[in-house]
Parts: sequence; structure tokens; C-alpha cells
Amino acid sequence: MASVRLSNLSKRYEGNGTNVVDRINLSIEDGEFMVLVGPSGCGKSTTLRMVAGLESVSDGDIYIGPTIVNDMPPKQRDISMVFQNYALYPNMSVYENMAFGMRLRKTEKHIMDSSVKQSSRVLEIEHLLERKPRQLSGGQRQRVALGRALVRQPQVFLLDEPLSNLDARLRVQMRAEIVELHRQLATTTIYVTHDQIEAMTMGTRICIMKNGKIQQVGTPEDVYTRP
Ligand code: ADP
Ligand code: ADP
Repeated sequence: MASVRLSNLSKRYEGNGTNVVDRINLSIEDGEFMVLVGPSGCGKSTTLRMVAGLESVSDGDIYIGPTIVNDMPPKQRDISMVFQNYALYPNMSVYENMAFGMRLRKTEKHIMDSSVKQSSRVLEIEHLLERKPRQLSGGQRQRVALGRALVRQPQVFLLDEPLSNLDARLRVQMRAEIVELHRQLATTTIYVTHDQIEAMTMGTRICIMKNGKIQQVGTPEDVYTRP
């Protein structure tokens, strides 16, 4: 586990003078489940992608634990990310999808096998390991995407609107499952959503963003019951 700290973090895109993320400061403690919430376009995804190393930092710093990671390639950050569209490889089996990151890192086969087995057991997808993504339901695909992110036991777990492609019933169920997973693993988590109910029911703390800035940070009670 590791803390994540954003210090005066900003992002500008080429040819656009304004900061889409504008000097934000945020500390996420070891083991915390932080939800970034706010309207579409407020900079949540860009913030998460900078933490993952998928976008460069324009100004400020990102710390993971004591280390500034601004210039560290994504692979070295000990982070896993789950995307809205799952980003599964269509031609690979569930097993191969889950093992992909470990294969890249040349993990030994028996370690890979036991990690995939363990994660797939937690997510109840053990019986699906030989299937291709197209042979899975939406909820199963989402579990595979979670499983792929979890097998490596990352220090930091990032989720970008992971439930927005699911129907309402499944969304409620998966919310509870992700919270339970976090309760078991206690991995430091940053979860992006535009859905206030999701934020309220999932986060140990919530960070409300608007126009690239942080408006408020606090527990769900702090943030949604204050007059
Ligand atoms: P959110 O995740 O809160 O919906 P984003 O972080 O995706 O918001 O986007 C923040 C702002 O940055 C938006 O105005 C968006 O149009 C802009 N943006 C995102 N990606 C790019 C890009 N690659 N180039 C230019 N502008 C971008
Ligand atoms: P989300 O709602 O998940 O944030 P978006 O539809 O905002 O997704 O963005 C999808 C992709 O397009 C992202 O990779 C984002 O960086 C990119 N993007 C968003 N806005 C712009 C923009 N104005 N110019 C270029 N790329 C953008």
C-alpha cells in the first residue's frame, strides 16, 4: 500500500491555454478509498490518468509514497487502472487477459497461475478463464477487468467510471462488490465517477471537482449533509 499526494497539480493540453486541472492539492492516505466526483469535463479523468502516467504533468507533483513519479513510466508505478470500457483484449482468453501484465514483467508461470487463480476466485470468475471477452456478460467482463487489475496486487488501484456501462441493477451489485473487495484488500484506491450516489455509497472520502479545481474534500457525511 502507498499514499498518493497531488501537490499543485495542473494539466494544460496543447493549443489550449486553460488548465483543465488547475493547481489541485489532495492527499490520499494508505488504504483509503477516495472518490473523485463532479460533472463531465471537470478534470477527473485527466487527474487519474496523470497519476497512472498516461498523461504528462504540466505543473506540480504527484507523489506515490515518498517518491515523485512525474517522469516515471506507467509500468514502474506499481499502479493498476480499470477503465470504463474495460479495455480487455478481444483475442485473448480471460486467463490471458488477467495474466497479461505479469507476462509483460516476465513473471514465472507458477506465480502467474496462482495469482490468476486467487483473483478469479475472489471475483467468482474461475469458471470463465478459458472464455473470450465476447462470450461474457457485461458484469462478467467488468469482473475480468477488475481481476486483471488486481492480480498484480498493486500499491494503488485506479478506477475510471468502471460501472457506467452496466445496467442499473448490476451497477448497484458491483458497487457493493468493489467496496467489499476494498475492505478485504485495503489497497489505496482512487475512484472516478460523475454519479453522486456512487460517490456517497463507496468512498471513505469524497473529493468534489468543478472546472479543474477541488471544491470540497471530506467524508460522505461531511460533503453531502453540510448546509
Ligand atoms: P472528466 O473526467 O471530469 O469528464 P476530463 O478529465 O476527461 O473530464 O476532461 C477535462 C477537460 O479536458 C475537458 O474539457 C476535456 O474536453 C479536456 N480534454 C481531455 N482530454 C483532452 C485532450 N486529449 N486534448 C484536449 N483536451 C482534452
Ligand atoms: P470520459 O467521459 O470517460 O472522461 P471522454 O468522452 O471525456 O471520456 O473522453 C474520451 C477520450 O477522449 C479520453 O481519452 C480523453 O482524454 C479524450 N478527450 C476528451 N476530450 C477531448 C478533447 N477536447 N480533445 C481531445 N481529446 C479529448
